[in-house]
Amino acid sequence: MAKLIFEMSRPGRKAYDLPPCDTEMRDSGSLIPERYRRKKDAELPEVSEPDVIRHFTELSRMNHGVDNGFYPLGSCTMKYNPKVNEDIASLDGFKAVHPYQSDGSAQGCIRILYEMDRMLSEITGMERFSLQPAAGAHGELAGLMIIKAYHVSRGDTGRTKIIVPDSAHGTNPASAVMAGFETVEVKSDERGGVDIEALREAVGPDTAGLMLTNPNTLGLFDENITAIAKTVHDAGGLLYYDGANANAIMGICRPGDMGFDVVHLNLHKTFSTPHGGGGPGSGPVGVKKELVPFLPAPLAEFDGKEYRLDYDRPLSIGRVRSFFGNFGVILRAYAYIRTMGSEGLRKVSENAVLNANYLMHRLRYHFDLPYERTCMHEFVLSYGRHKETGVRTLDIAKRLLDFGFHPPTVYFPLIVNEAMMLEPTETESLETLDLFADTLIAIAEEAEKNPGMVKTAPHMTYTSRLDEVKAARNPVLIHASEGVSE
Ligand SMILES: *Cc1c(COP(=O)(O)O)cnc(C)c1O
Repeated sequence: MAKLIFEMSRPGRKAYDLPPCDTEMRDSGSLIPERYRRKKDAELPEVSEPDVIRHFTELSRMNHGVDNGFYPLGSCTMKYNPKVNEDIASLDGFKAVHPYQSDGSAQGCIRILYEMDRMLSEITGMERFSLQPAAGAHGELAGLMIIKAYHVSRGDTGRTKIIVPDSAHGTNPASAVMAGFETVEVKSDERGGVDIEALREAVGPDTAGLMLTNPNTLGLFDENITAIAKTVHDAGGLLYYDGANANAIMGICRPGDMGFDVVHLNLHKTFSTPHGGGGPGSGPVGVKKELVPFLPAPLAEFDGKEYRLDYDRPLSIGRVRSFFGNFGVILRAYAYIRTMGSEGLRKVSENAVLNANYLMHRLRYHFDLPYERTCMHEFVLSYGRHKETGVRTLDIAKRLLDFGFHPPTVYFPLIVNEAMMLEPTETESLETLDLFADTLIAIAEEAEKNPGMVKTAPHMTYTSRLDEVKAARNPVLIHASEGVSE
């Protein structure tokens, strides 16, 4: 196990060498109120520069990231992030800008916000976008608040229910409840789509809306979408598109044209900005024309000469985040969209779908394929032989770690037994897909011949199986070794 940096500390050791201060120091006591001041020096680790570099390099090597290997985590779109986007986001003009600067002195930044709104609207078929939400689930909450504000503004206050299919991402019902709705679950039909008859029975005068992902979490496109939209609209409800995974549709079809009224996108999935480490995300929410008045303030406007931020939005649901959202993430996504162009984005989706279908066909004879259909950007397999071999999907996922692959998403969607959800993304080569497929097939064979090897995996990683429930419920976030106080 790697040591903690505190354990490497030696008194007096330093990673810096500053010249003596040649200006008079002001007494910080006059600036910082007494109650906020330290009573004693912070107990920071005392280490040399090589110690620091080796420590953090070692930690980074203990992790799996998209920069060091294949990461087919379904529903999460772990595609490669071009490094040029990082360079652009760290240009001084962007990095050093202050959110309280005047509009006149931040024209370039407001222009980015304005153009991003236009581009995302074009991609999804919406009228306007707010870039404020900081994650997909946050976009869902904002979108549902907009749906609520719309119904209430029309005096239609009895619409208390949001319909969610049983294949939905867990954030959908959670966001609906947080926005003050009740959720109603509709079953999927045998092709993996929304069961239209069940939907017809579920809608009524209390329906506020339907939340749907299309392609859904099975990676399947619901061809009945216009009939679904009509059913919900005829009942007076609105349609919410969970666009966290837009990687299959760019330049091919648009939620707005399918009949959706509200959309969120995950810039940190489809639009190639880093994610997965708990860092900042961005979940812009877009709406059709009738819903624009309810978007969070401010929106970026352009009068042909100047860009400005418009806060005068009396019907707005209010702010959902400070300032303009995670501007750095928006910038990376902006750079990505501009460098790809509309042709490039279409190719992204075509290749994402092609890669997923290729991988599905390589694997389908070694695992069970619950829905025999062309998939979109991802697909779901089931490990049906676990009753005979005693091996479970979780074990297969853990065994993949031994070969340097990040496992797929497992046990989701909930409607497939022993599910394994794979999303290769467009940025992987044929060689990578083949190597991964060969490895997974070899593990399936190993599960028959030597199940113990699979059930006790991983064998090659820094740590083996952790008590994940305990880690989530009782995280120990403080290292209380000698000399380090809490
Ligand atoms: C990732 C995801 C979300 C939630 O996005 P976060 O940014 O993690 O909040 C919602 N829906 C689907 C289908 C997703 O894949």
